[in-house]
Amino acid sequence: MSVTCPYCNAPADFLLYAQDENRRSTAETFVYYRCLGCGLIFVHPLPADLSAYYVGDYHAQPATESERAWHGRLEAIKLAYVQRYARGKRLLEIGPSYGAFLRLAKQAGFAPEAIELDAECVAALNAEGIPTVQSADPAQALKALGQYDVIGMWHVIEHLPAAWEVIAEAARHLAPNGILIVAAPNPQALTFRLFRARWSYLDAPRHVRLLPMRLVERVARENGLAPILRTAGNAEARWHNFAAWRGSLINLIGQERARSALSLPTSADQPRSRASRLKARLFRLALRTLMLIAAPLELTGVRGSAYTLIFRKPA
Ligand SMILES: [Zn+2]
Repeated sequence: MSVTCPYCNAPADFLLYAQDENRRSTAETFVYYRCLGCGLIFVHPLPADLSAYYVGDYHAQPATESERAWHGRLEAIKLAYVQRYARGKRLLEIGPSYGAFLRLAKQAGFAPEAIELDAECVAALNAEGIPTVQSADPAQALKALGQYDVIGMWHVIEHLPAAWEVIAEAARHLAPNGILIVAAPNPQALTFRLFRARWSYLDAPRHVRLLPMRLVERVARENGLAPILRTAGNAEARWHNFAAWRGSLINLIGQERARSALSLPTSADQPRSRASRLKARLFRLALRTLMLIAAPLELTGVRGSAYTLIFRKPA
């Protein structure tokens, strides 16, 4: 029997086989298809219990000072976009994980709220005075919430079996002039073409859907939202390009081999010798060189590893 698209029902072609390269949560093989109609990339069949693959430190906060600084840079880029386009302070983030962005937004004067799946993250956010609803079904959870000036979904839609339902519900919960921000791995990425099943942003099987930009735009338009920003080459995309090159090269070498060959730290408090720091520095240098060579391709068109789309609800 042929496989059809979970969004538009058009027939789909086999794309690739993938395993959990990033986390090795399982030895299973997953099959990805690409819809011939809307371009959606999806896992089929959908695993029955997706929560089984969110293992170990999935929601862990950055462990080292340099990691914190590196992640902090991304949160600052996101906040700059929100401040540039938002016309009010009521902000909802769907899928904030441990909530680094929400804390930053609160400091900047926003009134943040959230919907999150992970129970520990939910408890921590509520304890900090950021109202957070626990739910595995954000479209349903949204129905009980109010109106917002900003709804943000950074790297969330790829985890949802029916992201289009969440986008539709989010559109209904935007105040007039409110903005919806959707950032996600880009199926048109140069790094995806190069690394295929080893692309760290495929993140099988947790990324059950990869939505092309034009599909997100189509869903947003159908729900009355107007596009105001479309990019896969901004500072945010460049942050993700580095992460994607690094993660995919490690997947290509093999997690275990990479960790010993490159002396990558296995934990924050593990002491590192001079030789291991030198190897890590050489790996970063090789990475930067590869990225420099790829830059003319990667930073033009829409070939960055992740995209950011912003939509506005008409007043
Ligand atoms: Zn489709």
